[in-house]
Amino acid sequence: MKIDLTGKTALVTGASRGIGESIARRLGEAGAHVLVAARSLDRVNQIAGEIGNATGVELDISAADVRERIGALLKERPIDILVNNAGITDDDLFIRMKAEAWTNVLRTNLDSAFHITQEVVKKMIRTRWGRVINISSIVGLMGNPGQVNYASSKAALIGFTKSLALEIGSRNVTVNAVAPGYIQTAMTDALGDDAREKLTERIALKRLGTTDDIAYTVVFLASEQAGYITGTVVNVSGGLYT
Ligand code: NDP
Repeated sequence: MKIDLTGKTALVTGASRGIGESIARRLGEAGAHVLVAARSLDRVNQIAGEIGNATGVELDISAADVRERIGALLKERPIDILVNNAGITDDDLFIRMKAEAWTNVLRTNLDSAFHITQEVVKKMIRTRWGRVINISSIVGLMGNPGQVNYASSKAALIGFTKSLALEIGSRNVTVNAVAPGYIQTAMTDALGDDAREKLTERIALKRLGTTDDIAYTVVFLASEQAGYITGTVVNVSGGLYT
């Protein structure tokens, strides 16, 4: 079985590093034209150059003009594969959590998916082909102390995924979520060695995940071969959460 995304265009948000960067690179390897999007223009341009068949796009998903920016991209080419990957954390214990930390995390992780996906799926519905892949987290399934805001945003993305899948399945557009466990990125580098060791003990596969563990899952969900999968959450956590 060979996954071939030639002729498809994929938009990956938060693609300047970490999981999003790997997703962009692997989609490019599978033949898609990749719109490599994030706020760091130099970095996305560099990654796009290395992929080859790709374009760097400066995009702040929490900005007020995000819909207009997506509209402008859509005027240039239809987007067949949308990966809502960009996300932030702003952790604190609930009783101390500032309203700003709540609002920022929800705006970036959830509101942006609403605005971007609504613009993109209109075209997918018209062309009768589309793949929406939302990067959630196992924290959205199991909860995590200190992350009431983040877990809420990631759990909400799952409800978003399932509901939208039911609405647009008849138009041959699939909508799925990927729930990563702990992946080696800047986000998890912030954990101390001690915390990382304790965490690894709890993971059935006894290691943190790699960004490619997530990227290959996304490439599969984006493929023609995954055309009968919709409304699901693919748990890629090495058995941390089953
Ligand atoms: P990183 O912190 O390494 O990267 C985050 C990416 O999002 C960067 O490319 C950043 O680019 C971009 N980004 C952040 N804010 C914005 C914004 N307002 N507009 C546009 N882009 C933005 O994160 P990870 O790679 O670790 O995580 C990627 C996704 O996976 C997130 O949704 C995260 O919640 C999820 N996840 C991660 C896990 C992990 O263990 N790492 C576990 C479970 C889920 P720039 O600063 O250039 O804009």
